[in-house]
Parts: sequence; structure tokens; C-alpha cells
Amino acid sequence: MILDILQKLLVTMAVFLPLEYLLPRLKDKKVFRAKWSLDSCYALISPFIIGVGFVFIIVLGSLIINPILPARVTEVIASQHLIVQVIAIIIIADIGYYFVHRMFHEIPFLWKLHAVHHSIEEMDWLAAHRVHPIDQILTRGLSLIIPYTFGFSTESIAIFFVIFVWHSYLKHSNINIRFGLLRWILVSPTYHHWHHANEEDAFDKNYAGQLPIIDIIFKTAIMKETSGPAHYGTDTPVPESYIGQILLPFKLPKPKNKAASLKMEDVSLPGQ
Ligand SMILES: [Zn+2]
Ligand SMILES: [Zn+2]
Repeated sequence: MILDILQKLLVTMAVFLPLEYLLPRLKDKKVFRAKWSLDSCYALISPFIIGVGFVFIIVLGSLIINPILPARVTEVIASQHLIVQVIAIIIIADIGYYFVHRMFHEIPFLWKLHAVHHSIEEMDWLAAHRVHPIDQILTRGLSLIIPYTFGFSTESIAIFFVIFVWHSYLKHSNINIRFGLLRWILVSPTYHHWHHANEEDAFDKNYAGQLPIIDIIFKTAIMKETSGPAHYGTDTPVPESYIGQILLPFKLPKPKNKAASLKMEDVSLPGQ
């Protein structure tokens, strides 16, 4: 599996490095920018954790949904043309993605985990990997339970994944590409870069992963035709190291007095 991950990473690198070099959004961003090694850890190690958690959620979802789902529903869905199934998955998955993503912004404990993704200060294709595994498992798992259990074909789900993954790299990338009118239909890099802005008018906006119409319906869209925000990141403190970020859910609460502080420091997690 590690070879498979490495191979995919090299292919992605071969596509995005030249594009980011030829069409840079920010011209002074370096390939080996700050935290590239952290994001490489996410790219190489996290897929193992995410894979296990994702399968667990889908199996659990199937055990709950399959016994109560009328067979007619799966028959009708399975009989649809492949393209119809792919479009339906994109819509269903992105509605799920929108609400789970919003939950991660609005519930304080979940925000602590999602802040890892928002700690990105230099956007590029590699930074797309910096997502806490629990965030990734819940967002991806919950948004895909319906496609996996309602009779959508394996091919349609596979095509969805190819679109989703490449689109995810593109929307984080440092490529200066304008979508024009397409930006109302498909999330553009500019649109998602604004989700990562550390600027007040952009906080909690542009949750949609692929379809801006969902943000427009729920009044959380911010459509700016500039080249992107001036400041990225978050003021929420996030540990520096991969291990520190992975162990975030187990981080002990901050002590209230100095005496306790000394004790707590002795057991603080790496990178914190
Ligand atoms: Zn977010
Ligand atoms: Zn992002």
C-alpha cells in the first residue's frame, strides 16, 4: 500500500509542480516552503489511519441502513446511467460534506481538530493533505454513506473519487486559474482559498467542497473576484508536529494555576 501511496503522490507532484511553477498564484511561494515536511507526513502516513476509519463508518452505516432500505430504491438507482449516478453522488456527497464541514466549524471540540486544516498558511497542492484523520474520516465517511449503501455502482463511486481527489488538489493549489462563470457551478481555487482566509469577513464561509450553490442556498458563500486573500491561517493554536496534531483529541485541558501548570507541562504531548 505504501508503494501505491508513493506512486499516486509522485503522479500528483508531476502534474502540479509544473503548473504551480508556470502559473503561480503567489510568485514567491517556494516548493520547499515552511511545513512541507509536515504535509508530506500527512500525505504518506494518514492514508493508513483514514482507510481503516472510513471502512468502519461505511460498514457501520451499511449495517444500519441496508435492513430498512426498500430494495426498489437500490434497483432504481442501479439502473441509472453511469453519468447520472456520478452527478447524483457529487450532489449527495457535497450536501453531506457541507453539513459535516460546518459542524467542524461550529462545535468547539471539532473545530480544534479542523483548525489543523486551517493552520495552512501557504496554499499548494501538498497542503491539501493537512487534515486531521478524524476530521477526514467523519467528513468523508458521513458524506458518502448514502452513495455506498443506496445501490450506486462501484464504477460511479470510483469516478466520483477521481474527480473529488483531483479537484481537492486543484482548489488548494497555488495555481492562478480563473473559472469565469464556471465558478458558480464548481468550487474554484479562489473560492476555496477564501475558505482558508484569516480575514474576518471570510470566517465560516465557503464550506462547500465542490458545489458553491450549497453555500449560496445557506447564505455562507463569499464570492470574491480577487486573486485570493492576503492572509491565510487561523489564530487558533495548533501543535507544530505531525504527532502533536494527531494526538490533539487527547490533549489535556490547559491548567488554571501555575502550580498545576508545572505538572501539566511534564505530560504535555510532543510538539505542543
Ligand atoms: Zn473549514
Ligand atoms: Zn481546504
